[in-house]
Amino acid sequence: MMGAALEPHVAENYHPLPVVVARAEGAWVTDADGRRYLDLLAAYSAVNFGHRHPAVVAALTEQLGRVTLTSRAFMNDRLEPFAEALARLCGKELVLPMNTGAEAVETGIKVARAWGYRVKGVEEGRARIVVAHGNFHGRTTTIVGFSDDDSARAGFGPFTPGFDPVPFGDAEAIAAAITDDTVAVLVEPIQGEAGVIIPPEGYLRRIREICDERGVLFIADEIQSGLGRVGETFACDREGVVPDLYLLGKALGGGILAVSAVVGDRDVLGVIRPGEHGSTFGGNPLAAAVGLRVVEMLETGEFQERARALGAHLGEALAPLVGAGVTEVRIAGLWAGVDIDPAKGTGREVAEKLMERGVLVKDTHGQTIRIAPPLVIRATELDWAVDQLRLVLEG
Ligand code: PLP
Repeated sequence: MMGAALEPHVAENYHPLPVVVARAEGAWVTDADGRRYLDLLAAYSAVNFGHRHPAVVAALTEQLGRVTLTSRAFMNDRLEPFAEALARLCGKELVLPMNTGAEAVETGIKVARAWGYRVKGVEEGRARIVVAHGNFHGRTTTIVGFSDDDSARAGFGPFTPGFDPVPFGDAEAIAAAITDDTVAVLVEPIQGEAGVIIPPEGYLRRIREICDERGVLFIADEIQSGLGRVGETFACDREGVVPDLYLLGKALGGGILAVSAVVGDRDVLGVIRPGEHGSTFGGNPLAAAVGLRVVEMLETGEFQERARALGAHLGEALAPLVGAGVTEVRIAGLWAGVDIDPAKGTGREVAEKLMERGVLVKDTHGQTIRIAPPLVIRATELDWAVDQLRLVLEG
């Protein structure tokens, strides 16, 4: 059945697979008719720790019995412990809490501009930010304005000026785009929505050098790539690089709430003054309790290790499919972009056939399917899922 027929009162801003999830646990979801599916999307990495991870549910439940929402007009006793732990995880000093990923990106943009005017000395109104072609940073009007995906932009202008897109993976193009008015370089260390596009080794290190040389902030959007997915806490760790600002979201909410944050040192994030930025829900005690538990789980390194080991396993399982219905596999930790041979159908068609076999994936950009299972998945479950993909491609 088509999605619109199943959700007649829901605006069609998505094109969901026709599966109606009613329950979920770990790496599995169950539909309204009791059919089980292995979730290989994990809500775009928001469910890195699996559906309803008991430790996150416990943190949530405990906090529900105390206080849930105060607004930032008052302080709450959960925000500072969360901020302290998250700052430590990032090796930074300050946390600015928000809710969704797009809000974290907007916050990063505002911080970079304010830093440009107040610290770097850029003339008011002239700040520019270098971004990458193929980026996906969210859906607000400012953010879609510097996307080059027509379906994100067309019909939604006019857009905010001040962004300079350059090819992804080309650090020298960034260097060439920087002017005296440039305040920041904003990139995803690995492009997620674009299809798990991994830049050449050394790209992030070179961006760090360029930003240091030219007095420009390096902003890493780790909203999808961060918090364990790639086998490290952050995708920037793969090159031993520390950006000036981390943009975090998705998994920060433990698969339960929308929790996002911008994390940086005082000399950058400290430019924001009271009243200049905020959100009614950002930093609420329920979100902070969940976020703190997420940070504690990441501090053990267990999930990063699982992503590394399971990712290596997934890579081996997918390799024989290249040339047999798959044209390319890109993999970083437990995160794979699998390009489907057009002769075998589109990414969407493959996703639909996988759904019929009890495996949920999401297509992106026509021919690619993205595999980003909860990090609690078992190796045997990955094997079974790859078997289903093989059968779909053979069929
Ligand atoms: N940044 C990146 C890298 C993302 O992948 C996404 C969402 O997919 C966002 C930002 C936006 O996050 P949200 O959908 O929570 O606004």
